[in-house]
Amino acid sequence: MKGLFIASECVPFAKTGGLADVVGALPTVLDTRGCEVRVLLPGYPDVIDCQASPRVVFQADCLFGGPVRVLSGEARGIDLLLVDAPHLYDRTGSLYQGPDRRDWTDNHLRFAALAWLGTQIGLGSGTDGWKPDLVHAHDWQAGLAPLYLRENPVHRPASVFTIHNIAYQGIFPEHTADEVGLPAAEFNMRGYEFFGDISFLKAGLVYADAITTVSPTYASELRSPAFGMRLDGVIRERRDRVFGILNGIDTSSWDPSTDPCISTFTPRKLSARRANKRALATEFRLSSDRDRPLFSVVSRLTGQKGLDLLLEAIPELLDLGGDLVLLGTGDGTLERAFTDSASRHPGRVGIRIGYDEALAHRIYAGSDTILVPSRFEPCGLTQLYAQRYGALPIVARTGGLADTVIDANAAALAAGAATGFLFKPGSKTSLVEALALACEVYRDRRAWQRMQRNALRQDVGWDRSAREYRSIYDRLIRERRRHASGSRG
Ligand code: ADP
Repeated sequence: MKGLFIASECVPFAKTGGLADVVGALPTVLDTRGCEVRVLLPGYPDVIDCQASPRVVFQADCLFGGPVRVLSGEARGIDLLLVDAPHLYDRTGSLYQGPDRRDWTDNHLRFAALAWLGTQIGLGSGTDGWKPDLVHAHDWQAGLAPLYLRENPVHRPASVFTIHNIAYQGIFPEHTADEVGLPAAEFNMRGYEFFGDISFLKAGLVYADAITTVSPTYASELRSPAFGMRLDGVIRERRDRVFGILNGIDTSSWDPSTDPCISTFTPRKLSARRANKRALATEFRLSSDRDRPLFSVVSRLTGQKGLDLLLEAIPELLDLGGDLVLLGTGDGTLERAFTDSASRHPGRVGIRIGYDEALAHRIYAGSDTILVPSRFEPCGLTQLYAQRYGALPIVARTGGLADTVIDANAAALAAGAATGFLFKPGSKTSLVEALALACEVYRDRRAWQRMQRNALRQDVGWDRSAREYRSIYDRLIRERRRHASGSRG
């Protein structure tokens, strides 16, 4: 079968978070299951530049204010289709924001263009007759694709929409619906209207043949007002079409026995891991007069991630004898607060504000634990990388964190099954209890290493989940074929 991914991020070309890791890893795994995937991405300048000799497979003189082309190429083992539209993507700033950290004012056009071109390719225009059986749209940036596809009910491919994070809903004023060519008749509660505005995310939820999200727990949480962010009603309405499929990680580029960014080690030779902790302590100028547990964070700094709780708990973390390292960027207030904390606690707290992929690898390899105190977390990848690298995750019991970490409660410790520590989301007291338990287990070297080996043995790859995606794809394609032959007959 053939599948078209539509997404705004893809590792290693463009990334702000976990979406990029998923879109960069899943196609290759699906390929081994007989599913040929091409990935349609916006042609951000860096992405266009990495194409040696792209072919033009589609062009239009004017789409939302300028000419567009779709370029086909291959890079890092991924079949790419790039939207070459300089008026939309050729600019300095981040993927969604200008240098002033404000959203680009034409984001509705930038991502409607992505979805519209995805629809053209989905219907077999251009691309040398390549026509996918299924279009898989990721997050709000691709959310209009299932809606645009609906306008071609007989010939359209099946569609899947994946929620990577329901907090980002692609909301724009009503008048933009006309600018991006949405049918006025669908501007209502049961369509793409969202409390008087339009929502690209809601369009994906309402019009896709199936909805997936990135963990079973998040799939059920989304049905409640506490997590559904005003879209829980839509999710409940479509509940028999909503599937939770856990994210995996790319275990070949994240392999502690071959990773060029670190001192390599294997579960059998865990002692070799220590060189990474020493190197990290030097890099962050931590005083290494005795062996203290090293707690670390690699994260976007946003309210979702619960790092304000961690800030409050830093005195307790230090009293318990731990050190803290944080790599992150985002909210200016959090950036300043963590930086201040580092200057108040030299040698015990080390902070790096910024985005640094290689440093993230060094942190996973050199830390004793990775903290993820999120208030909600659709899946979370950091706790998977942590386990793959022998750093025990300390995570809030929510979303995919709850699905992927085995808590060190008394029973799991006794059975030797634990891989990390879970605590109540949003509770500083519960976080501090988890920190204290982690310190206690850390002092028992055998118990700690047993947990590390469990963590290192966890199946954090994509195989199982790719099988689940494939079976949903097959089901939708069968339904579509039945529907198409019924409409013709
Ligand atoms: P989210 O998608 O909400 O940001 P995830 O846990 O799903 O959270 O994915 C985060 C990804 O981004 C992980 O690969 C993590 O290692 C990476 N990451 C986050 N912040 C940074 C940073 N400052 N530098 C390097 N990598 C980062």
